[in-house]
Amino acid sequence: MVTQSQIVEWLKVFACVIEHHKEDLTELDAAIGDADHGINMDRGFRKVRSILPSCANKDISDTLKTVSMTLISNVGGASGPLYGTWFLRASSATVDKEELTEEDMLKLLQAGLDGVIERGKAQLGDKTMIDVLSPAVDTFEQALSQGLGTLPALRQAVTAAEQGLKNTIPMLAKRGRASYLGERSIGHQDPGGTSAYYMLRSLLEVVESPGR
Ligand code: ADP
Ligand code: MG
Repeated sequence: MVTQSQIVEWLKVFACVIEHHKEDLTELDAAIGDADHGINMDRGFRKVRSILPSCANKDISDTLKTVSMTLISNVGGASGPLYGTWFLRASSATVDKEELTEEDMLKLLQAGLDGVIERGKAQLGDKTMIDVLSPAVDTFEQALSQGLGTLPALRQAVTAAEQGLKNTIPMLAKRGRASYLGERSIGHQDPGGTSAYYMLRSLLEVVESPGR
């Protein structure tokens, strides 16, 4: 079971990871975009971190919704509305849940992915965060169908996400600013895919050590 306090902890860990990798994310975006992905994400998640204490009395769904609203109003670029949508759908998928079972977690991850696809219209292979989020959801679902619980399923999902991220390197970008580069986008890792990988890895980190 994933609890409300683990969700808050996850958001805190993710915000710290983003802060730590701000320059790297911006460097990745400098290669195929406009060099602001680290700045955008850090701006948003710094704000998220500052409002987390006010989420202590909220339930999981309301917490995720607050994160969504914070991102939408503080982050520009493509990533603000896309991550905002991910968290909004995650919120809708967890209404009235006190804790999240592995099935609830699958619904959360699937809803977030579906939201990003609807909003951004990217497909698998377009060199976006979808190339990380989608294999993670598929792998998580497969793991559950094999009878695994949240932690081992999440471990497999994060491994799939990492592979998905590496797979973005040889891809030609078909969405977002990187698509303006055409062939020149080949050979670079997708910045939004990188932050999406950090998001899932942070979740795993918190679920792995609940007493942290
Ligand atoms: P911007 O491109 O507006 O400068 P960011 O640099 O913050 O925004 O984010 C860029 C990242 O957003 C990309 O690396 C990619 O992963 C993601 N992205 C861009 N467009 C889309 C889309 N249509 N669908 C999904 N993800 C997208
Ligand atoms: Mg950018």
